[in-house]
Amino acid sequence: MTVSPRTKLTAVIGNPIGHSLSPLLHNQIYAKEKVGAVMLAFQNANIAELVSAIRALPIHLTAVTLPHKESIIPLLDEVDEKALAIGSVNTVINTGGKLKGYNTDVVGIAVALKDASLKGKSVLIFGAGGAARAVAFHVRECGANIFSFDRTFQKAQALCDKFGGTALEASALNERQFDVVVNASPVGLHPNTDATPVSKEIIRKGRIVFDLVYNPLETRLMREAKEKGAQAISGLTMLIGQALEQERLWLGRDIPDSGYTELLENELSSC
Ligand code: NAP
Repeated sequence: MTVSPRTKLTAVIGNPIGHSLSPLLHNQIYAKEKVGAVMLAFQNANIAELVSAIRALPIHLTAVTLPHKESIIPLLDEVDEKALAIGSVNTVINTGGKLKGYNTDVVGIAVALKDASLKGKSVLIFGAGGAARAVAFHVRECGANIFSFDRTFQKAQALCDKFGGTALEASALNERQFDVVVNASPVGLHPNTDATPVSKEIIRKGRIVFDLVYNPLETRLMREAKEKGAQAISGLTMLIGQALEQERLWLGRDIPDSGYTELLENELSSC
C-alpha cells in the first residue's frame, strides 16, 4: 500500500500491546478492500492520553484492548446501548471529532456461536471479566441459562446479578454437566498451555466448547473437547468476526471474510 497525505490512521491501544494481531489483520483488510488507511499499535497505561491522541491526530477507528475497555467509557462522547449494558468498549469510531464507543466482541461471539441453538440450554461461562459479560449478553439474548464461575466468586455473582444465572463455587463446577462450555478467562493461554479451565469429565459428546483463547491455536480445552466428541470452536473465529464488525462500523459497509483465518493461523504458528 502506498502511504500518502490522504492515508487515514487507525489504531489498536492497550498495555501491553506487543502481541496484538490487530495491525496484521486490519492492514490486510485495508489492502484487500482498497481502503487508504493504516493501523498502528500504541501502548500506553494512561487512557486519558490515548483518548487525547484519538482526538488530536485524529485516529478514525480505534480497537481498544486490556486494560482500557472499561476505563475509556467516561471519556467518550457517546456509548452504544449494547456496550453500556456489557460495561465494556472495544471499539471507538471518531466521526468529525465525536467519539462513540461500541462493543464488537459480542458480534464476534455471535459469529462463533452462529450454528449453536442456545434456547433453554445450560451455558457455563468460565471467567467473569469483560469478555465473559459479552458472552453472557449474547447467550441471554438467545434464551440460554447462564452458569458463571470465576476464581473470585463475587465476580461470578456480579455477572449473574446483571444478566441472570447461577454463580457456581469450584466444588459445584465438576459435579455438573453443561450443553455449552465457554472459556472466557486466560486459562490455557500461551505460555501456560498445559492449563485448562474445566476437567475433561464434564465435557459431553455432541456438546459445544468455545475457547476465547486463540494462542495456541488448539488449546488443551479444545483438544480434550474433540477427544470427547464435542464440537470445539476457536477464539480466532470471534477475533475475526469482531474485527470485521469494527471495519463495518467505520466504513459503513459489510466486509467479507476473505481468508483471514489462514493469515492469522500462519502468524500464530510461526511465533
Ligand atoms: P479480564 O477482563 O481480565 O477477565 C478475565 C477473567 O478471568 C477475570 O474475571 C479473572 O478473574 C478470570 N480468571 C483468570 N484466571 C482465572 C482462573 N485461573 N480461574 C478462574 N477465573 C480466572 O479479561 P477479558 O477481556 O475478559 O478476556 C478474557 C480472555 O478472553 C483472555 O484470554 C482474552 O485473551 C480472551 N479474549 C479473546 C477475544 C477473541 O476475540 N477471541 C476477545 C476478548 C478476549 P480475576 O479477576 O479473579 O483474576
